[in-house]
Amino acid sequence: MDYNELSDKAAEYMRLALPLMRKHGVPMTPDNYTVWYEHVSGGNQELSLSIQDMVKETPLLSESQCKTLFKRFFNIEKEREEVYQMRLELARLLKEVINFIYSSVMHTDKTNQRLNDLMSRINRDMSAAEIHQIVDDILAETRQAMNSGELLTERLNTAMTEVEKLKKEFDVSKQEAKTDTLTGLANRKAFDDVVSKVTNDADDSGLDVCIIFADLDMFKNINDKHGHLVGDQVLRVVANALKDSVKGRDLVARYGGEEFAIVLLNTSLQNAKNVAENIRQEIASKRIQRKDTRESLGVITMSFGVARYVSSEGSESFMQRADRALYMSKRKGRNCVSEAPPPII
Ligand code: GH3
Ligand code: MG
Ligand code: MG
Repeated sequence: MDYNELSDKAAEYMRLALPLMRKHGVPMTPDNYTVWYEHVSGGNQELSLSIQDMVKETPLLSESQCKTLFKRFFNIEKEREEVYQMRLELARLLKEVINFIYSSVMHTDKTNQRLNDLMSRINRDMSAAEIHQIVDDILAETRQAMNSGELLTERLNTAMTEVEKLKKEFDVSKQEAKTDTLTGLANRKAFDDVVSKVTNDADDSGLDVCIIFADLDMFKNINDKHGHLVGDQVLRVVANALKDSVKGRDLVARYGGEEFAIVLLNTSLQNAKNVAENIRQEIASKRIQRKDTRESLGVITMSFGVARYVSSEGSESFMQRADRALYMSKRKGRNCVSEAPPPII
């Protein structure tokens, strides 16, 4: 079968992934397929860089290296069950496709063997009847091979289409698992992942990383007075305001109920405090109205805590400090920005 005829990208990735896995001694388990499929599809640059680094050191990967790759880039524990199930389904389909390919190759070999046998039976001394018989046999064999080949192509194409569809759904689910449904911002899990990554990077590079924690002041009153739906409307307005006040590369997340968090890369503490102060003024100057009655919700304010990462303190300490700074703002009377105390190392 000519795989080049399959326009489907999934088939192409499969063709790229299999020999690579073989070359680096990677066992063909569903987890490993997931890793190498993702690698050759070019969808995850960081994963690809990690693989390149690993094989540079040792061309044959150990079982624990394979496991590390899977755990690092496809952390099951942290992901939603739905995403995990989808990955299993994807891996199952990939396995099926590979079985098709193998059985197809084996079938072709057998067919070739049988055709060669038939050919070798042809000789000059044969009677016309014998030659007719052999030609009939060859035709029958070829027809059978063609039929099963076509069938196989069709099954393969169906499976490939399914794989591609599943992969898209998988990507959407993966995205959804990181998104807060009310505001469309990143959720707490996404935020924690990013902070953990950028602080790790900062330990190496020494670049500035700051975070801002922000919490709505006396938000309970809004809910009590106007109801939860109006409260939700306010959360969406605030989410948009936060998003609009940072650059595209900075991550804004809804960290909890009425608490938000921002990661600022390559930003000094002073600049991070300026960003927080600008947001504080922007929110406090908004006059949000109820959508239904146009009634004003009065002045809505937020309190802020800002921290700059100190090399090697770790993401947990970093976030605790930002949280402590936020608490200081609440104690100072709310609607203000506080700087985090230094880490206790
Ligand atoms: P403080 O200034 O000390 O932060 O006071 P607060 O009232 O904002 O804080 P508190 O922690 O007492 O209450 C938080 C409120 O946020 C309680 C809860 O009803 C509301 N809240 C949390 N999540 C949501 C949500 O998703 N939608 C709505 N409408 N309200 C929420
Ligand atoms: Mg609050
Ligand atoms: Mg709160």
